[in-house]
Amino acid sequence: MASVPCDIPAIRAVLLGWYDAHARELPWRAAPGDAAIRDPYRVWLSEVMLQQTTVPHATPYFRTFLARWPTVGDLAAAPDAEVMAAWAGLGYYARARNLLACARAVSVHHGGVFPDTEAGLLALPGVGPYTAAAVAAIAFERPANVVDGNVERVMARLFAVEMPLPAAKPVLKRLAASLIADDRPGDWAQALMDLGATVCRPRMPLCDQCPLIEHCAGFAGGNPERYPLKAAKTDRPRRFGTAFVLFDDQGRVGLVRRPDKGLLGGMLGLPTSDWGSPDEAVVPPAPADWREAGTITHVFTHFALTLTVQTAAAQGNFIWTPPERALADLPTVFRKALALAVDGGDTARHPSAG
Ligand code: SF4
Repeated sequence: MASVPCDIPAIRAVLLGWYDAHARELPWRAAPGDAAIRDPYRVWLSEVMLQQTTVPHATPYFRTFLARWPTVGDLAAAPDAEVMAAWAGLGYYARARNLLACARAVSVHHGGVFPDTEAGLLALPGVGPYTAAAVAAIAFERPANVVDGNVERVMARLFAVEMPLPAAKPVLKRLAASLIADDRPGDWAQALMDLGATVCRPRMPLCDQCPLIEHCAGFAGGNPERYPLKAAKTDRPRRFGTAFVLFDDQGRVGLVRRPDKGLLGGMLGLPTSDWGSPDEAVVPPAPADWREAGTITHVFTHFALTLTVQTAAAQGNFIWTPPERALADLPTVFRKALALAVDGGDTARHPSAG
């Protein structure tokens, strides 16, 4: 690790100063330093939308939602079908269902007022650790540790962390926590998000525009882009396939019993294609509007598997199981695929979770 003195007060001061001058203007965002007008409904809504798409894609959806349902109470009272239709194009319907469940919980159990602590937010349906931390920090000025992939990358470079992902996740989270203070926690979280999104980019970071350049061990080492390190690729043969996550109108997941013989024989699983070359034809298990949720990888003893995860609302002759139950019961490979479909994986998109 290149030797750069770690001056936390200086790091905080320069990054907050940079944020004051360069904060992105986003429709859900209050101006830097203007904590008074932060609306937890807007922050929560934007964070849920951004879990599966980019700022430019989410922005028109955010404006539409806010125009139609200006408060969490309005959203809670909306018919499911209208919310689902407005959500179309934003990806997983499971998240839209969670959105409604959360709005209704806030409306019914909290008098229409969002809980103002990380723990209180985490107890809401569909709110994972990342979203709880983000809303607590941004809307309520709680010194919460808001760590997503962007923040992980900044930490890995700033501190030149030589441990590869995913093992480094807890280390990166601790490093992010070490920079948190009671002063302006919402702006701090957003400053780090903005730095990761606009300057400390995954490829070709703009170090000459970075307020942290003098503090950055990765830059001092001459090759900041090599961080975060990734675990060496497996030399096992690789197979490819598709896993299908079907949700019925009660939000249950369609499972199948695997054949007795073969890998994971006799166990419950998601419907999948055959696992082989990436070019193999894929036939979905039911006609539906299938959407790609992303990919997961899983290493078996004799091969590594990359599964593309497709998700849709569908019906059919499956073993319909509540997602929580399926997440607890399924073999790991299917659990990973389901987590991706259910929450994009608050577990997955927000690498703050292991
Ligand atoms: Fe990222 Fe470069 Fe800034 Fe370091 S100096 S935090 S690598 S942009």
